[in-house]
Amino acid sequence: MSHIRELTRHINHASHADMELITKAYHYAERAHEPQKRASGEPYFNHVFATAKYLAELNMSPTVIAAGLLHDVIEDTGATPEEIETIFGKEVLFLVQSVTKLGTVKYKGIERNVENLRKFFVSMAEDLRVIVIKLADRLHNVETLQYVKPEKQRRIALETLEIYAPLASRLGIGELKGRLEDAAFPFAYPKEHLETKNLLETRTDAHEKYLHEIDGKLKKVLKENHVNVERVDHRVKHLYSLWKKLKRHDMDIEKVYDIIALRVIVKNIEDCYSALGIVHSNWTPLPGRIKDYIATPKPNGYQSLHTTIFTGTGGIVEVQIRTTEMHEQAEYGIAAHFAYKEAHALGHAVASKKEFAWIDELRLAQAELTKSNAFLERLKTDYFKDRVFIFTPIGEIMDLPEDSSAVDFAFAIHSDIGMHASGAKINGKFMPLTTKLKTNDIVEIQTTKTAVPGSKWLDAAKTTNAKIKIQKYLKEHSLISKWLSFGKK
Ligand code: MN
Repeated sequence: MSHIRELTRHINHASHADMELITKAYHYAERAHEPQKRASGEPYFNHVFATAKYLAELNMSPTVIAAGLLHDVIEDTGATPEEIETIFGKEVLFLVQSVTKLGTVKYKGIERNVENLRKFFVSMAEDLRVIVIKLADRLHNVETLQYVKPEKQRRIALETLEIYAPLASRLGIGELKGRLEDAAFPFAYPKEHLETKNLLETRTDAHEKYLHEIDGKLKKVLKENHVNVERVDHRVKHLYSLWKKLKRHDMDIEKVYDIIALRVIVKNIEDCYSALGIVHSNWTPLPGRIKDYIATPKPNGYQSLHTTIFTGTGGIVEVQIRTTEMHEQAEYGIAAHFAYKEAHALGHAVASKKEFAWIDELRLAQAELTKSNAFLERLKTDYFKDRVFIFTPIGEIMDLPEDSSAVDFAFAIHSDIGMHASGAKINGKFMPLTTKLKTNDIVEIQTTKTAVPGSKWLDAAKTTNAKIKIQKYLKEHSLISKWLSFGKK
């Protein structure tokens, strides 16, 4: 049974019960979906099998893999919840039902889909495994998008780019994010996809040459200096993220330095820093491109050292250095936490970790903002945009949406600081509160008791939190002044 082997070979020490669960789910799903066909004409079972295979590749547990196989049986076949529970147990039933619930509302464009999105996040906070199954399901659906009616393709592709890929990214599942985006890209933006693909092809030969130059020497010098290297490999930038970067550089591919990145996976953190030193003593680094995400991880938990070096023959290559654990975190994110142990309500336990605190924050936000539009607005602006990372004078990191200003920073620290902010010191210089912040800025907010929000702040504010508070103040304030001037007449 080689197919079943594909689903179980990633499980550490698969027990007899694990094998039995997956084998049973495999045969049950195959039989249940028997007469059904996908739009491609293939048996429907191929879809649930692919979903389960992605989950297996993410090192998910046998329970989750079984739920992946069964994720469409309640919705699309005659299978009843009672039957699933009797054969596969309560937990598998819970996962299958949760995935089914998420899928019942059909996507009709992001604006009209708020209710569905909300269900999505509520269920996410309940159990993140449901989201991982949904993401794997979506990946196979976008990878087979060419068989779907053309009028549906773009809608599904955009939904993938706007909702699913950012979600995978925020959960730290970089591997899944990249695949979702690249599968959706040609259907969402066909012209841009082609342009990016052609641009990348013009550089392929040069990149292979540079890579070849560095690779051998790098392995040699690391070995000579006794760094515990687990392996050295490389990745080519995903096409969609290349396009996003190209847009910021007027489509000039010469300005994108991380198209190819060499990845050095080492044993421990000391090895990371030794390796960085060795790289810099053998190749000249590009100034300003050394990033220490080990000391200051990205909010989704990503850790690594990045540097960009001149190859010596005109090439520029990025080098990423990290430990095996950091690498797994980068590829599998939250899924990596599920890999080894799995408890009931694990979703909650993981969500309480600092890097996933935003999940709880989002859940609170959606309870608080009852109006659909407000919720959608918040989703789009606060959680799905690129982020900037700002430091407080004592080295704490604030994670804000791109284009945020010192006003947003003030409110992010505390409402009272926002309400009474009188000035900002950015990298040691006094600047207006409306100044836009950049990653790595160190910002200190000055307050005075008499200071109040100004009308210019509203334009400068990007976070919903700051906007709501400023608006509320201005509204009350203008009512009072209107009332006062009315009284004077
Ligand atoms: Mn499905």
